[in-house]
Amino acid sequence: MSTSTTQDVTPFTAEDAAELVARLRAVHRTGRTRPLAWRTEQLTRLRALLTENREAIADAVHADLGKPRAESDAAEVALPVREIDHTLAHLEQWLAPQALPAEELAGLPAGSTAGTQYDPLGTVLVIAPWNYPAQLLLAPLAGALAAGNTVVAKPSELAPATSALMARLIPRYLDTEAVAVVEGGVAETTALLAQRFDHILYTGNGTVGRIVMRAAAEHLTPVTLELGGKSPVFVDRGADLETVAGRLADAKFRNAGQTCVAPDYVLTDPDTAPALAEALGRAIERLFGADPQRSPAYGRIVNQRHFDRIAALLDSGRTAHGGRTDRADRYIEPTVLLDVRPDEPVMGEEIFGPVLPIVTVADLGEAIDFINDRDKPLALYAFTEDEATRRRLAAETSSGGLGFGLPMAHLRVPALPFGGVGESGLGSYHGPYSIATFSHRKARLDVPLAPR
Ligand code: NAD
Repeated sequence: MSTSTTQDVTPFTAEDAAELVARLRAVHRTGRTRPLAWRTEQLTRLRALLTENREAIADAVHADLGKPRAESDAAEVALPVREIDHTLAHLEQWLAPQALPAEELAGLPAGSTAGTQYDPLGTVLVIAPWNYPAQLLLAPLAGALAAGNTVVAKPSELAPATSALMARLIPRYLDTEAVAVVEGGVAETTALLAQRFDHILYTGNGTVGRIVMRAAAEHLTPVTLELGGKSPVFVDRGADLETVAGRLADAKFRNAGQTCVAPDYVLTDPDTAPALAEALGRAIERLFGADPQRSPAYGRIVNQRHFDRIAALLDSGRTAHGGRTDRADRYIEPTVLLDVRPDEPVMGEEIFGPVLPIVTVADLGEAIDFINDRDKPLALYAFTEDEATRRRLAAETSSGGLGFGLPMAHLRVPALPFGGVGESGLGSYHGPYSIATFSHRKARLDVPLAPR
């Protein structure tokens, strides 16, 4: 079933939400979604949805975000496909009940056995954001289906073309008895959140994350909150700056900086900072040419509100590269800022746009203090060849993920958990972590009635 509320004249009400959730819960109780065969079939169909509609997805995401086709192919299609393939390859093994060794059962009657099994949670709500509007709806959906749940999927209203496409495609490919798409914004999500779900996975900002968690608390519903924040990059003295700049620019300016795990700002020493800024300028030209506005490889800002917010951040520090904007085109040039002070606006909030401030620190210790004085980031990146530096960063800081040498690559490894900590989120998913998130690990003890 698909409830396409943006096109319907009648709004999606709390009663509609209650009816929908009751129906999905009843389907779950029949056991329909529990067999491995049903789960693998849904995953295979979801894979087909992605591969057979690569063009339509690229068109929709381009209409919403001006996202270049190659970026869409990689992030909206290939990444969830890889996630699904990895799950299909391992699902049976992940779901196998785990038996405890006999010595753990000391004191129980002879012949007793014990272990754990994964149970599906029931009916799950997935709320997606606009910045990777297909991936961040479908990758959690894949996890929820792999774990044997019925699902309500709520795409972002700020990516309306992708939302409409998902509402059209999902019922064509997936089991309509078990998966529903509800389109819409605050009103529709509020109606859904009033219902009792068995799990909610929300991706987006922390303000709404708190609304989701409050609503979930009414029903003691567990939540996974995939939030954002300012992800720092430490560039060590002596690192090869051409390599650093190439990898940093690619991660930062992809999707015009609108990526939750994008590098937010750079910490480096005062000697390295200007040379890095110059190398970044060269890397930006290699990626997007002399005029990125004309480059088919460069995206746009999602809407005027975000354009105005990001444009206001350009006044911080001193512009070392870029700085041009075009409001009518929602274009902001890839920009590098030098001499940025920690109290300037660009350092106050998650940038979520193509602006890269460089803040100088005297040494690694000051960089670690700088990071630890702020909210725990979704990701921390560092470019260094020094093992002791890597050890200190790993041991003395806390972040959702930690990446040395290649920013954003950790989320392409499906066997790694993806999630935040503190202000950057709660819980994780991807691969086996999606199964753990969307299942209950049930303890089971079997004691024979007669001694054996
Ligand atoms: P968004 O505005 O699309 O909101 C996300 C979802 O919340 C949407 O489905 C929207 O309908 C819903 N929503 C909005 N207001 C609501 C309300 N008052 N009540 C209930 N639901 C509501 O996306 P966004 O929040 O602008 O996304 C950007 C943020 O998301 C950034 O902070 C970014 O870092 C973060 N993010 C995190 C991840 C991650 O995986 N950790 C991924 C992408 C984005």
